[in-house]
Amino acid sequence: MYMMELADRGLQDETRMMRDVTRKFVDEHVIPFTRQNWQQEWNMKPEGRLPEKILQTADAIGIRTLGVPEEFGGTPLDPKTETQTFAVISEEISRGDCGLSDKMVQIWKVSVLLRNVAPRHLQELWFPRLVKDPTFLLAHCLTEPSGASDRWLPYNVPEASMRTRAVLKGDRWVINGRKQFISNGYDAKLYVVYANTNPKVGMLQGTSSFLVPRGTKGFSVMRCNETLGGRFMNNGEMVFEDMAVPKDHCLAQDDTMKRAGIYFRPGKIIVAAKNLGVGMAAFERTADYVQNYVQGGRILIKHQAVAARLADMATKLNAVRALLNEAIRAMDAGAHDAEVLCNQAKMFASEEIFAVAKNAMELHGGNGVMLDFGVERFLRDAALFLHRDASVDISRFKIVKAMFPRTAGVYAGPEN
Ligand SMILES: Cc1cc2nc3c(=O)[nH]c(=O)nc-3n(C[C@H](O)[C@H](O)[C@H](O)COP(=O)(O)OP(=O)(O)OC[C@H]3O[C@@H](n4cnc5c(N)ncnc54)[C@H](O)[C@@H]3O)c2cc1C
Repeated sequence: MYMMELADRGLQDETRMMRDVTRKFVDEHVIPFTRQNWQQEWNMKPEGRLPEKILQTADAIGIRTLGVPEEFGGTPLDPKTETQTFAVISEEISRGDCGLSDKMVQIWKVSVLLRNVAPRHLQELWFPRLVKDPTFLLAHCLTEPSGASDRWLPYNVPEASMRTRAVLKGDRWVINGRKQFISNGYDAKLYVVYANTNPKVGMLQGTSSFLVPRGTKGFSVMRCNETLGGRFMNNGEMVFEDMAVPKDHCLAQDDTMKRAGIYFRPGKIIVAAKNLGVGMAAFERTADYVQNYVQGGRILIKHQAVAARLADMATKLNAVRALLNEAIRAMDAGAHDAEVLCNQAKMFASEEIFAVAKNAMELHGGNGVMLDFGVERFLRDAALFLHRDASVDISRFKIVKAMFPRTAGVYAGPEN
């Protein structure tokens, strides 16, 4: 298909092969499941929403444990093309279902973080367990009820710090607080939790991260959030009440927000890629529909207004992909504009793909809003991306701050 030419260009053979295996999995298992069982995403029991079989199949083709070191049984990836591979595979899974993609990519991103910051003995303990159990999920907990934008900006003042607190008592860290909106929060088995360890300084100097196994005393999962889209990922809310973890479970003390860059930048790429997968799915369904559905005696695409909208959708998708690829190249090269490009790719994707999904819905007329027809879900899924990993406005702020650090960069600081 025409849109695949751009998607394929520049990909290494190994990445293309993995993409093709993932595509087969999505076409044979994920899309048939979501189309035939459209009510299932509205099952209000999170436990049974997505059949385990889908996770087992994802595991069997090796896409669940990307990011896990090969010595512990993870799927080996060429470090030079790792980010590109993450992007390609997450897009492809998201083309089938973006909630499933959310589930998987948390494993990849947190694994990359752990292999960089976790002590060796904790890697030896947890990676094999993760590899062995196809239902093992990971979660990364930053957001709190007080809001996440302060963390993304960040205004580096004590007032903007996290409310979750960790205090070292003897040989244990005692953590109190609450996290919300966490991907896999409801059903993960291992969590990375961020907490304030120095209330006198800004977030960049006073935040630490901790490894928290599910079941730790004082840890409770309070609820599963029922989201508008991406419903096969169980987003959760957690509370920590005098929860103690051993001293060595502190992954990075005080400067963790800086060190977590290893997670955040590829994170933006992956969010944009998952978002692109939603747009590609919306385009594929729409291209098929307008070439088969007849109105006014002609298939829809013969009507010029319809054709023009389809052209618009394709252009937006290609523009998102081109910017995404450029951000990946900048990141891999360690270029100084990587930060700006990653934020631009994530922010641009969210607005453009929302518009693509809206066009898809409109071109399907009444069918576009019927749950059992399954096109409205692209708009619901796309809506979630507008604020994830920072809202559109906060992303714009970050872009301009990185470009003009001396002026926009001190926007919220004192006038001088
Ligand atoms: C499906 C889903 C999955 C998620 N997964 C995770 C996860 O795995 N881990 C995690 O930690 N978090 C996760 N989040 C949280 C997500 O990162 C936040 O929702 C997002 O960053 C926005 O933060 P907020 O919701 O607290 O909004 P707020 O920060 O409260 O912002 C509310 C509004 O105010 C605006 N605003 C805030 N401050 C400013 C400012 N200074 N200037 C101008 N405008 C401002 C924002 O742009 C926004 O429009 C997830 C959220 C969802 C819904």
